[in-house]
Amino acid sequence: MDELDALRVAESVVERGDLPLLGQDPNVTYRMGIMGGTFDPIHNGHLVAAEQAFDDLNLDVVVFMPAGRPAFKQDKRVTAGEDRYAMTLLATSDNPHFLASRFEVDREGVTYTAETLERLDSIYPSNVELYFITGADAIAEIVTWRDAHKIAELAHLVGATRPGYDLAHAREAISKSPYNFDVTYLEVPALAISSSYLRARVEAEQSLRYLTPDQVTGYIHKHHLYGVRPRRYGSTEYNVSFGQNGGDEAQ
Ligand code: NAP
Repeated sequence: MDELDALRVAESVVERGDLPLLGQDPNVTYRMGIMGGTFDPIHNGHLVAAEQAFDDLNLDVVVFMPAGRPAFKQDKRVTAGEDRYAMTLLATSDNPHFLASRFEVDREGVTYTAETLERLDSIYPSNVELYFITGADAIAEIVTWRDAHKIAELAHLVGATRPGYDLAHAREAISKSPYNFDVTYLEVPALAISSSYLRARVEAEQSLRYLTPDQVTGYIHKHHLYGVRPRRYGSTEYNVSFGQNGGDEAQ
């Protein structure tokens, strides 16, 4: 390796930040899944969809990338990127082929997928293929996204749907587009779960158990997200007081 190559490698490590090292062997083709979403909050539907994409498409890794300032949500209330990233990190931490990345959360301005893919394309060598995974509803709109032609050039697309979801709209939008999108659709039963359903349950003080990892539920409560009201420690049903003879009595 000459000095210039060494400099390039060093630069790419700095740019790569928390992204995985891929593409080392020029004789091998690597497949990197990029799970794009707002993740407000992340839930088991997202996790199952990513695992299914990993298996079905023979991916080497799936990088969960919470959007910083989502392009189509400028007029909507979105939880701070730092909280959405933290929940994503907690939810993915026990899966060896899942990673959470700050790549979009740390970027200034509105998050555009074309820009993300261009940056990834400049960081990774050409033997790393990009698979952008997101909801099929979002894929149906992709033709309207900024620089849609670049997205078509730079990545394979994976649209995750719940069973019974009508793909006609998405298929028609993609087929009428002048660009050559390569889309795979995945039916994921667990996508009956949605972030808005979780938010509504938190608001109604209902359980999130089995809908999202417990660590995410813990984070939501600890940081009072989605309308969780702060509680005084020890003031609720598990209040423990010390009796006159020193024993503790649960009240
Ligand atoms: P959204 O409109 O909030 O979501 C549309 C549907 O897809 C919802 O049912 C959503 O369910 C589901 N969904 C979202 N991400 C998913 C995922 N990774 N796996 C499975 N289902 C998913 O979409 P969004 O979250 O704002 O955006 C999705 C991705 O597209 C992000 O990476 C975003 O940056 C990108 N995007 C780019 C542009 C652009 O470049 N102009 C515009 C829009 C979106 P949940 O609510 O349960 O997640």
